[in-house]
Amino acid sequence: MRSVRPAAPQLAGMEPYDPKYLPADAFLSANENPRDVEDALRSEVMRALKRTALNRYPDPLANDLRDLIAEANGLDRDQVLIGNGGDELLFDLALAWGGPGRTFLNLPPTFSVYEANARLTNTAVAEVARRADFSIDEEAVLARVAEGDIDFTIITSPNNPTGLRAPEDFVERLLDATDALVMVDEAYFEFSRRTVRPLLDAHPNLIILRTFSKAFSLAGVRVGYVMGHADVIRELVKVRQPYSVDALSQAVARVVFENRASFEPAIQAIIDERGRLADALRHIPGVTSFPSDANYLLFRLDGADAAWAYLYERGILVRDFSHAPLLEGCLRVSVGTPEQNDAFLAALRSFVAERQAR
Ligand code: PMP
Repeated sequence: MRSVRPAAPQLAGMEPYDPKYLPADAFLSANENPRDVEDALRSEVMRALKRTALNRYPDPLANDLRDLIAEANGLDRDQVLIGNGGDELLFDLALAWGGPGRTFLNLPPTFSVYEANARLTNTAVAEVARRADFSIDEEAVLARVAEGDIDFTIITSPNNPTGLRAPEDFVERLLDATDALVMVDEAYFEFSRRTVRPLLDAHPNLIILRTFSKAFSLAGVRVGYVMGHADVIRELVKVRQPYSVDALSQAVARVVFENRASFEPAIQAIIDERGRLADALRHIPGVTSFPSDANYLLFRLDGADAAWAYLYERGILVRDFSHAPLLEGCLRVSVGTPEQNDAFLAALRSFVAERQAR
C-alpha cells in the first residue's frame, strides 16, 4: 500500500521541541554553563573514559553514580534514580503518574516540556497561571489540588524561564495539602543555593529533580537525577528505558560529581555576573527585567522580536519568548562570561538607542 496510517491522535498539531539553536559567537540561549569542564578535570574524565568497556551494556541503574549522589544527600541508593538528562526523568514521571484519565497540574509560564509530556501521554492538563510578576498564585494552587483530581504537579525552583525560586513554606503547605506527587524541579538550584531536600524525609509525595547540565557543565553528556522515596523511585524504574544512561555518560558524571567542589568558583562567578547583568539591565530605558535566582534573566521590552534579531546579527543568541503565551515581549538571556555579558549589554543598549533615535 502506498500510504501510511496516521500517527497516534495526540500527536496531531504538536510541534516537536525546538531549542532554537543557531550558530553564534555568544550562546546565551540555553542556560548552559559558559565554562566547559576545566583541563585538569577533563584529563581525569578522559582517563575514566579509557577504562570504560564499550562492548558491554552499561549498569542499567548506574548504581555507582547513584551511590555517590545518595551519600552526598544523606539518602539510600533506592531513593535516587539517574536519567538521560533531566528530560528523560520528566518523561518517565508523565508515563508513571500520568496517562488517560489522569491529570497534571501545570503552573505556566514554565518549562514547556512538562505540558508536552502530558499531551504525549494522554494526560489531562490543569493550569494555575502565575501572577503578572511570575510569582506562584499559592492560594489558587492549594484550592486547585483540594479538588482532589490532580495526580501530579511540577514546581520549578528556580522557574524557567522566569527566574524566581518557589518559597519553601509554600512547597511544604502544598505537600501537606495533597497526596498528588509533587516534583520540585531543581535544575538550577546551584544558582539559588536553596533546596527542598530537608522536606523529603517527612513527605512521601515529594520528588526532587536535578541535572548535571547547568552548574556542572555537562549539557552535552545528558545526565540528570531524581531523589524521592523508594516507593516512588520503584514506579519510575518500571517505565524507564533500561539502558538510557550509557557507560560513557556514567563515567563522566562520576568523575564530575566526585569533583563537584571544584565547580564552586565558576558557580559563584555566574551568581556575581547575574547581579551585574541585572543591575545593568535595570538601567537600560524601556527594559523591564525580572529578578532571578538562576543563571538566566528574563526581560521585557518593546520590539522584543526586533531586539532578538538585532542581537543575533551581532553574534549574540538569546532565547525569544516574545510570542509565547504569558511571556509576550520577553527575551531570556543566560548569564555568560563577563566578556559575553558585556557584548550582550552593549548590543542591547545600541538597539534601544537606535530605536529611540527613530
Ligand atoms: N528542568 C528545567 C527547568 C530545565 O530548564 C531543563 C533544561 N532546559 C531541564 C529540566 C532538563 O535538563 P537536562 O535534560 O539537560 O538535564
